[in-house]
Amino acid sequence: MFIRDLFRRRRPVVSFEIFPPKREYPLETVYATVEALRDLGPDFISVTYGAGGSSRERTVDIAAAVKDRWGLTPLAHLTCLEQTKAEVDAVLDTLRERGVHNILALRGDPPQVSLGGSSSGGEDFHFAADLVRHITTRHPGAFSIGAAAYPEGHATCDSLEEDLRHLKEKVEAGVDFLVTQLFFDNDLFFRFAERLDAMDVRVPVTAGIMPVLNARQIGRIVSLSGASIPPKFARIMARYENAPEALADAGIAYATEQIIDLLSWGVAGVHLYTMNRPDVTRRIMANIASVRSTLVEGAISP
Ligand code: FAD
Repeated sequence: MFIRDLFRRRRPVVSFEIFPPKREYPLETVYATVEALRDLGPDFISVTYGAGGSSRERTVDIAAAVKDRWGLTPLAHLTCLEQTKAEVDAVLDTLRERGVHNILALRGDPPQVSLGGSSSGGEDFHFAADLVRHITTRHPGAFSIGAAAYPEGHATCDSLEEDLRHLKEKVEAGVDFLVTQLFFDNDLFFRFAERLDAMDVRVPVTAGIMPVLNARQIGRIVSLSGASIPPKFARIMARYENAPEALADAGIAYATEQIIDLLSWGVAGVHLYTMNRPDVTRRIMANIASVRSTLVEGAISP
């Protein structure tokens, strides 16, 4: 199933992100995660590429297994920085052969920032838009292509305006849908969506939500993503910093509230960064079950 068609058929689209285990762990560890997520009815599951020290080859295997073993729609992330066209082509050919038809086309980070993965030092691609153009030229119509979007602007961009201009170029290169960086302040997302609309960027934007479960995680998230922390969220983190269970409960409640607000606003989709924690994802999905089913039923009735 092409993800562009999913967005045409139903709103909201609810999806999960998982990541491959590190090389020293078997693939079965992430398959146990997929098994535990499956009955939550995700519209698609995305699999990261070379992030967090994982091996890149595993992304294709996991994405294919999501489809073959569980009958779910996979979205394979693919980065292009420091890759040659030949290397990217090899991955694209394998994805096609294995029936994975959805790609999140990304630039990736330079090696000193990136947490893992090999690099051939290739210079064929500079930005994600180059990868989007390459996919649409070499495999016209074969993939539904998603791309990353940053409601607060990408960390290395001088301004949100400039980042939005580059985002529009990327979409015009052949992007069907956008998945956002995590954020904790919905108003930033709403303003971002309005600006895209004003710029005539009309592809569906699915909102990336990450439940924060411990105080260590928050520092890492902020330094990697540059997400700003609203005062309400900062208060919660500070108050329960030394009470792990309370902090996890509060993090799940905060993510739930964010999602309910986004759904009420009419967001095209919600993309949950599961951190390979089905227990947490399950609690959030239980919290939004009636809201989600009301909206899905609303979307399919005439
Ligand atoms: P781009 O869209 O290329 O943008 C990168 C920067 O370049 C931006 O500042 C942009 O404004 C600027 N830019 C774009 N075009 C031009 C131009 N023509 N001239 C000048 N500047 C320009 N990383 C991984 O390694 N693996 C993953 O699986 C992964 N998954 C992700 C999933 C999501 C939803 C998100 C939001 C990020 C993910 N990342 C992943 C991180 C991502 O690779 C980094 O954020 C990376 O720094 C930017 O990737 P991009 O595709 O957004 O790049």
